[in-house]
Amino acid sequence: MLAVDIAIVGGAMAGATLALALEQLCKSSGASLSVALIEARAPGDEHPGFDARAIAVAEGSIEELKRLGVWRHLSRLGTPITDIHVSDRGHFGMTELNSSAFGLPYLGQVVELEAVGKALFDAIAKTSIQLLCPDSLVGMEAGQDAHTLLLESGKRLTAKLVVAADGLGSAVRSHFNLPLEQVDFDQDAVIANVVTRQPHDHWAWERFTDTGPLALLPMAPINGESRLSLVWALPPEQAQTLQDCDEQRFVNQLQQAFGNRAGVFVGAGNRQRYPLKLSWMPRPIHHRCVFVGNAAQTLHPIAGQGFNLGLRDIVDLTRVLRLALSENSQADVGDIRILHRYLALREHDRRETLLAIESLVRGFSNQYWPLVAGRSLGLRLLSWCPPLKAPLASRAMGWRRGIRLTSTL
Ligand SMILES: Cc1cc2nc3c(=O)[nH]c(=O)nc-3n(C[C@H](O)[C@H](O)[C@H](O)COP(=O)(O)OP(=O)(O)OC[C@H]3O[C@@H](n4cnc5c(N)ncnc54)[C@H](O)[C@@H]3O)c2cc1C
Repeated sequence: MLAVDIAIVGGAMAGATLALALEQLCKSSGASLSVALIEARAPGDEHPGFDARAIAVAEGSIEELKRLGVWRHLSRLGTPITDIHVSDRGHFGMTELNSSAFGLPYLGQVVELEAVGKALFDAIAKTSIQLLCPDSLVGMEAGQDAHTLLLESGKRLTAKLVVAADGLGSAVRSHFNLPLEQVDFDQDAVIANVVTRQPHDHWAWERFTDTGPLALLPMAPINGESRLSLVWALPPEQAQTLQDCDEQRFVNQLQQAFGNRAGVFVGAGNRQRYPLKLSWMPRPIHHRCVFVGNAAQTLHPIAGQGFNLGLRDIVDLTRVLRLALSENSQADVGDIRILHRYLALREHDRRETLLAIESLVRGFSNQYWPLVAGRSLGLRLLSWCPPLKAPLASRAMGWRRGIRLTSTL
């Protein structure tokens, strides 16, 4: 039976990033950790985590990915966002965030997850990580000093620490019957790649409409065509209609909802739909287990913070492991004191981000006139008074408590 220090269950954005971060930790600190990564699907095989989605990775997250030794595998895939325009359709509120105002080359970068998955798995194949893919966790036997993991292939392995990066429906969470809190916003997101007549010039747009928020992110052009990645949150029936209708009708509806600020939309690729819920584990640790990424919390994509927050789980987990191993190179990585340190580090950031996202979704999905007036005024104030933008920008850029992180990793 295979015996490892750390078994990561789930190898999408969170799990694959963590695997590479642990490899870098060992290289840079001289620590010796054996790591296994268990992932149900190989990239490219209708992968649920590395699908047609494009996501915005904030500037602060890119700095963290560089420190973790992961960004070098992804940098060629990124399309920079230099400016963000936020507006409220049908009302006078609007504001802009510009990278030049912060002395930065960009506010974030957009990456397409399918390509990211391939790049991360190519990098993992060159490491000492035991990659068990395609294979799935189907059972666990809890132990005092290590857990035993049972895989679909019939393989068994023991791990001192199990990191659950297995998404919203986490098999590890189900196994231990741990609580998950949920808020259902009664919205679905329709995503598609949209072709525009004008170049995007690295702008991103977020527009709050009567039905829900709509975001457009700049993507790399294909065959000279300017492309934007669309996330459009709508009530489920409307989302279904928009997913099913023909391309021309979809493009017309989008133009009508968004307006002309990003130019004329001339086409749209395949449309996909995701139900939107806010889910979180009140306590993302258990005996010899840590939950990270979507397994610990799944956000509404309104502010593009899901992976950015999940990445901070990984940064903090790597940080507590590094500290423990620097104090004692033989440290038990599943020790409850390490897990409690992790929990304490994550508490503030998780609570603040979850609260901010919930208020944003509720505040901007509401047509009650005092709220509409308040948010229009808020957006106007931001555009008239640039210093007020700092807290908004620091969240958008993935900085913690308004400052760029200087991690000790
Ligand atoms: C429309 C949309 C737009 C988004 N935009 C942004 C954005 O702009 N910026 C941002 O930061 N975030 C964004 N997000 C969020 C971001 O995509 C997610 O937070 C991130 O991809 C989650 O990655 P994960 O690895 O934590 O989980 P998941 O992607 O859910 O991966 C879980 C993995 O575990 C595997 N797995 C599950 N069960 C098992 C098992 N039993 N055994 C083995 N493997 C298993 C699955 O195959 C899967 O690969 C967006 C999300 C959506 C839906």
